[in-house]
Amino acid sequence: MKVAESFSSIQGESTYAGTPCFFVRLAGCNLSCTYCDTVLSRGAGRSCEIAAIVEEFRGSGMPIAEITGGEPLLQEETPALAAALLAAGARTVLVETNGTRDIGVLPAGTVAVMDVKCPGSGCAGSFNPVNLDRLRRHDEVKFVLSDRADFDWAVAFVKRHALVGRCAAVLFSPVVIRLPPEELARWLLEARLLVRLQLQLHKSLGMP
Ligand code: SF4
Repeated sequence: MKVAESFSSIQGESTYAGTPCFFVRLAGCNLSCTYCDTVLSRGAGRSCEIAAIVEEFRGSGMPIAEITGGEPLLQEETPALAAALLAAGARTVLVETNGTRDIGVLPAGTVAVMDVKCPGSGCAGSFNPVNLDRLRRHDEVKFVLSDRADFDWAVAFVKRHALVGRCAAVLFSPVVIRLPPEELARWLLEARLLVRLQLQLHKSLGMP
């Protein structure tokens, strides 16, 4: 596989935020979001066998694992990696995906944390609609918001597709240099939707 980096840290996103986690960041992405903060992952990466990644996970002693990117579902071996991490003892394997690739390839026991790209990302329209049917009760859907237009767009998407109740959580996460979290919090209170404000916990802890 092509790997950008691997490390242990506190999980900063999703309903698993706060949990010690082993991360493997796969190389390569098919999008170019205006706010991308993982430029490293868009490079070629280093070649790595699944067995070596699993060995590193075992050595880390972390209870859960996350496969992220870049876009991890660009690599055909990602489902096999997820299955291998589960077999190696990971209580959960999160797969963070940008929503463009079919999440139906993921093995049972994984949790998809799937982006739906909003207009402010510069990549609106990239979402693969087949993923609405693929969504499982334990998966999570994330909207990264740059401004009020993104918020209104995301609320309309959530309502149109009745996302609340179809998955474990709907997450609204601000691009903090564009949208102050307290402003998003106010909008969420007004909207009275069962969606969750997500801040990147690892960043406030100064962790990767
Ligand atoms: S999908 Fe993620 S890794 Fe790819 S460009 Fe967008 S923010 Fe960056």
